[in-house]
Amino acid sequence: MTTIQTNLQRVLNELDGSNTRLVAVSKYHPAEAISQAYECGQRIFGESHVQELCAKHENLPADIEWHFIGHLQTNKVKYMAPFITLIHSVDSMRLLHEIDRQAMRCNRTIDCLLQVHVAKEETKFGFTPDELLQVLDEGEWKTMTHTRICGLMGMATNTDDTEQIRSEFHTLRQLFDTIHANHMPQPTFRELSMGMSHDYKIAMSEGSTLVRIGSSIFGDRTY
Ligand SMILES: *Cc1c(COP(=O)(O)O)cnc(C)c1O
Repeated sequence: MTTIQTNLQRVLNELDGSNTRLVAVSKYHPAEAISQAYECGQRIFGESHVQELCAKHENLPADIEWHFIGHLQTNKVKYMAPFITLIHSVDSMRLLHEIDRQAMRCNRTIDCLLQVHVAKEETKFGFTPDELLQVLDEGEWKTMTHTRICGLMGMATNTDDTEQIRSEFHTLRQLFDTIHANHMPQPTFRELSMGMSHDYKIAMSEGSTLVRIGSSIFGDRTY
């Protein structure tokens, strides 16, 4: 086994028996690294740059499920609309509209997660919990026919304070439950994307259904 395959197996062992699925975050790593994980059965890969995503999609097996996890500009949606499986990072209604429009042009429905800002950092994108509840109350999302809101995504503050991380994930979990109860009772609203290499075990204990793990599998990224 290669280092990537050993790392992947270790992470998969941690997820074994849970309800959490792995998004292997392959951004900045070459197609060859993805192929190694693919050979071990991994099929879900996460990317955060549109051009890189599209190039990899063209050159790698067709049964890979590509997830987009980075900040997405509306003018780039059209490039991934034909094939993307899940967009984790919807942070405005304007973006959701554009995804809906491009999905319609491709005759598909695109699954989306709404990104929520729970971290104590200025740099993270996403709706604040209050903004999100307001936007959902306004109900414009109900007019969209080619997108399906399947859950929420969030990032905790980049800190060693595990209690802070836990509390931020807990906030996200509670927001998910509130929205599921009040706005989106449908069973397809079921994904909570939270947890990265350094905090995914905490995220799992707070109810994460998707963890997005990069460096623990593929090693450090060189930008
Ligand atoms: C890069 C990235 C990850 C993976 O981070 P690691 O620390 O390498 O596991 C997860 N989520 C998002 C949104 C990212 O951009």
